[in-house]
Formats: sequence, C-alpha cells, structure tokens
Amino acid sequence: MSKSTGISGKIWSANDYVEGILRGDRVVLGRAITLVESSRPEHRELAQQVLEKCLPHTGKSFRLGITGPPGVGKSSFIEAFGSLLVREHGHKLAVLAIDPSSQVSGGSILGDKTRMERLSAEPNAFIRPSPAGNSLGGVTNCTHESMLLCEAAGFDTIFIETVGVGQSETAVAGMVDFFLLLLLPGAGDELQGIKRGIVEMADLIAVNKADGDRIELAKSARQDYAQALHLFPEKESGWQPKAVTCSALTGEGLSEIWQLLLGYQSLTSGNGWFEENRKKQLATWFASQLEQFAHRFFFEDPAVKSNMEAARQAVLEGKQTPTQAAESLIDLFRK
Ligand code: GDP
Repeated sequence: MSKSTGISGKIWSANDYVEGILRGDRVVLGRAITLVESSRPEHRELAQQVLEKCLPHTGKSFRLGITGPPGVGKSSFIEAFGSLLVREHGHKLAVLAIDPSSQVSGGSILGDKTRMERLSAEPNAFIRPSPAGNSLGGVTNCTHESMLLCEAAGFDTIFIETVGVGQSETAVAGMVDFFLLLLLPGAGDELQGIKRGIVEMADLIAVNKADGDRIELAKSARQDYAQALHLFPEKESGWQPKAVTCSALTGEGLSEIWQLLLGYQSLTSGNGWFEENRKKQLATWFASQLEQFAHRFFFEDPAVKSNMEAARQAVLEGKQTPTQAAESLIDLFRK
C-alpha cells in the first residue's frame, strides 16, 4: 500500500487519511486535498486509495457552482451568503475556488487578496483555493476529487467558485447541482467578458451590487436577464432559470437566493433530475478520465514518441496519408 510522509515526518497510510477525514478533521482534509492535487505517481495511487474508501460517504451534499467576471463580488458574495448558511441555517460549508488564471499569469487572482476572512474563521466552513495546474482537465479533476473528500468530511454544502471568463465554468457546471452566475448592474454580458453560453448554463443570475445608487440599474439589468433567460430552450431539469438582484454588501436578496435554491432542490429531487444529473455527470467524468489516460499512455509511449517525427515527415513529404501514418503509430503502440 502506498504511503506518504505526513506532518512531523510520520508516514501516513490511506487509513490515517480516511479516519481523519471521516472525523471531520480539517487539517487532515487539507492534507488529503494536497495529496489529491499532487501529480507524483505514488501520491496519485495513495490518493485513489483514500478516495475509494471515502466514496461511500460522499454525494450527500448540495453542490453549487458560482461564477462571474472578476470584480463582480464573488468572494464578497460567498463570504456573506456562506455566513448566512453556516450561521443561520446550520450548514457545514466547503468552498473550493478554481483559479485557472494562475497557470497563465504565474500569479493568482485569488491568492493576492485577503479573501473571505469572516467565513474562514467559522468552525463550520472550510475554504480551499485550487492551485495552478498544468491543464484545465487536471485542475477540474482535482476539484472534483477534493469535493468528494469534503463531502466525506461531513460538509453538506459545497461551493465551487470559478472566474467566469475562461473555460473552467463549463467544467464546473458539469460537477455541480446548481449553477449561479453573478453579474454587475449596468453592463451587458458581452461587456463583462461573459460568453453567451455561460448565461445559458445558469440556473440563476444574481445581479450583485444592487445597493446605493445602483439599485435601479440593477433592477433593470435583472429584468433584461429575466427576459433573455426566457428565450432559451427549457432545461432538462424542469427548472425555469431566474434572475434576481442582491447585494453582498448589505445582505439584501441573499435569503431569497437561499429560498430559490431550496425550491430547486425540492423540484429536482421530486422529479428525479437531481439523481439523474449526478449519474450523467459521473458518466461524463468517467469518459473524460478514460480519454485523458488513453491520450497520456499513447503520447508517452516510447515507441510512439521516437517515431512521431518520422511519421509526420512521411505525411509532409507525401509518402503516406495522415491516416496511414497515424495507423503506423497505433501499430507500434499495440506492439
Ligand atoms: P470578485 O473578484 O468577483 O471575487 O469580487 P470581490 O468580492 O473581490 O469584490 C470586488 C469589489 O466589489 C470589492 O471592492 C468589494 O468590496 C465590492 N463589492 C462586492 N460585492 C459588493 C456589493 O454587493 N455591493 C457593493 N457596493 N460592492 C461590492
């Protein structure tokens, strides 16, 4: 069985991790997430053992994806909304933040701000930014697995935050039960750098910063989005996406959002979508893992690697068709 060196040099077995996680020990949970994020083969193996043992304890949370352009107020919203859920509704909340920008810029948009200070001081909240990854697939895979660990540790509500300007939100929409898009008052979605497809994925649009002299602007933006949402085809969930206004600053509208989430949960558990969607997501995740593995095994195969350039040249020189050349590499791989 694989092991890894834990705090104070102790060697940790899969059971050490699992016991700590199931106890709800946040330090162990944090370490387990670090393990899941590691790309070292021995860590990957141990991580999978931990995940396998945790699996029976997963799945019982409500998973909420939160996205929106930089500056819309995502962290402020999570701080305020998260505190409401933890303090007033007795939930245990884990927040996983995906920051794909960090792999491009080398710096993190999430890391350079002091974020969610109030929420992170709550004993029933756990906040964890995802690190820079080499690929979007890798980052989202880690997030998915980290989410399972949080569930096994007893968190009944999971927020997955992503900056809504890249591709990560599509991946996030594929691992959550409900997708919340935060937008600003008084600017079209194009201006906010939000792609149309993201608006279409949303189950709820919340126009944030509806306070002070922006209240009217926010109300009219809400109306525009509500109309836009009506134009999309009906969702498989049977849920009609909605648009609301809120303020992470004053707390206005946050209870209404919580009520809407409860309404969604009751609708989709009643009509079977909640379970069906979870199954679909698992099937998609499995397919994408297979693809990633197949891709990696093929391209990292020594015979394939050493003959790749020759095969490419054969195509460029007109000696082989691309299909023939590709098949010759496949043959080498099979041998
Ligand atoms: P993020 O980049 O989406 O995470 O946005 P932040 O939560 O860091 O917020 C960006 C700025 O907007 C900060 O200065 C916040 O104080 C401010 N902000 C966030 N939410 C609200 C709100 O509801 N009303 C007002 N007036 N300001 C807000």
